[in-house]
Amino acid sequence: MLKKEFKKKDVNRARNLIRGKSNSSTGIQVGYEKKHIDYKEGDIWTENKKTWTIKNGIKQTISKLDKIKKEVHTPLCCPKCNNVMKHRLDKPNYRIHKMCYNCVIDFEGKLKCKPGKYEKYLKELELKNKLTLLDNIEESLLEIANISNKGFVSEDGVIEKWVGGINNKQYSEDIKKYAHKTRKKLKKELNESERIKKSN
Ligand SMILES: [Zn+2]
Repeated sequence: MLKKEFKKKDVNRARNLIRGKSNSSTGIQVGYEKKHIDYKEGDIWTENKKTWTIKNGIKQTISKLDKIKKEVHTPLCCPKCNNVMKHRLDKPNYRIHKMCYNCVIDFEGKLKCKPGKYEKYLKELELKNKLTLLDNIEESLLEIANISNKGFVSEDGVIEKWVGGINNKQYSEDIKKYAHKTRKKLKKELNESERIKKSN
């Protein structure tokens, strides 16, 4: 089952780190030069504290676009046991299993008695978790890349700044490229595993 929840505050923490403590409390970007940039399909940028993109020629916020969030609108009650989903881990588990945390525990308990199947389930679950995590990380990195043209955090947590700033566009492209490559690899692995299940 999913034990971790990726929260907005994790993104905020990283963002504050990058901005430097001095303006973390205000949350306002200062000293930025206004530049006129023409955006095109697929570009991602930050404006008015929101992350935007252009999809099908329409400018929209990332959160609206975010497929995962759309798909996983969590219902009030678990579709399996009809209990209200109010546990902290109901939502993240519903995202993956389409049932509440307790039902997942039940399900996994029964599966443990079936040799081979449980291992396969764990492997596929790990891949699914990695895919979800990848989506979250990609979104956060893109968000950070598009607000942090003042410096970056080095491995030991020191904020390093340099003249000229980072190339946000290049950064975003690198992030998207890497995420796409990793996503493709994970999905391929998952598809292969799920295919075995069907032919058995
Ligand atoms: Zn349930």
